[in-house]
Amino acid sequence: MLRRTSPRSADHYDAITDAWRYIFGENFHYGFFASPEVALPAATRALIDELAALSQITGKTRVLDIGCGIGEPALYLHEKFGCSVLGISTSEKGLKLALARSHKRGRSDRVRFQLADGTRTALPAESFDLCWALESSHLMDKAGLFSECHRLLPSGGSLLLCDVMLKRPIRLSDHFSNLFDLGWEYLSGYLGLKRAYGPGRTESFDDYRNKLSAAGFGEIRLVDVSRETLPTTQKWRENIRINRSEILRNFTERELRDFERASYLMEHLFEKEMLGYGLLSAVKL
Ligand code: SAH
Repeated sequence: MLRRTSPRSADHYDAITDAWRYIFGENFHYGFFASPEVALPAATRALIDELAALSQITGKTRVLDIGCGIGEPALYLHEKFGCSVLGISTSEKGLKLALARSHKRGRSDRVRFQLADGTRTALPAESFDLCWALESSHLMDKAGLFSECHRLLPSGGSLLLCDVMLKRPIRLSDHFSNLFDLGWEYLSGYLGLKRAYGPGRTESFDDYRNKLSAAGFGEIRLVDVSRETLPTTQKWRENIRINRSEILRNFTERELRDFERASYLMEHLFEKEMLGYGLLSAVKL
């Protein structure tokens, strides 16, 4: 059933998890860099802090972590705020690692994980105070995700999400006019982007805002952290240099090349302000 609703995304995450741990670390998301010298693990935790600061999380908050990766953000939130967390994902591989992690840290009573699609969880209505989607919304139909979050929250409940977003349309003609400046690395990055990052769909800041208000959310706040997240891609490539042989135990040469090229392309699109990174908070009216 799940495999039919989002088969490609589940397969993608099952396939890349082992290699990505050597590239991303335990948090499968961008970092928030107060300065470029900050190490990637500290910066990925800082991104969680920045997003969490947009709401008030306490020991009583019931958090639904939609697209929970391998469980590190859920455990970090629990350990920082004392909140309970249910992490959901369509990747069985990610869930297995997440479950082992919460057992190992002795948190399995308050930090749980289960297989579910964020656009149709089958969880009881109004059973969470906070829906949290950390760099997973690009993999889901936004209208479906937001209406499901609306159902799962009581009135006054919050939705926090962050993701790569479109800042202006990406036109190939912008690149073809300076094909030689752009170079083969970037062009081939286009071709490998989905292979590298999975079947995502990037939408604009305004699309997010409009779809949230159409789903019944208000008090929508968007913080542009494109500048602070920009150093991330370079850190991924540093990790590739350091961990190349370990990564190649789980990736083919071609998969690694796709990833590296896609990372240059992402950086280019961030620098040209076609892509950016947004933190978003919204409240169910
Ligand atoms: N939030 C995590 C992982 C981000 S990667 C972190 O920051 O570390 C995206 C995650 O979304 C993966 O765990 C992937 O399996 C999950 N995902 C993809 N499609 C999904 C869907 N339709 N429903 C729930 N989770 C999904």
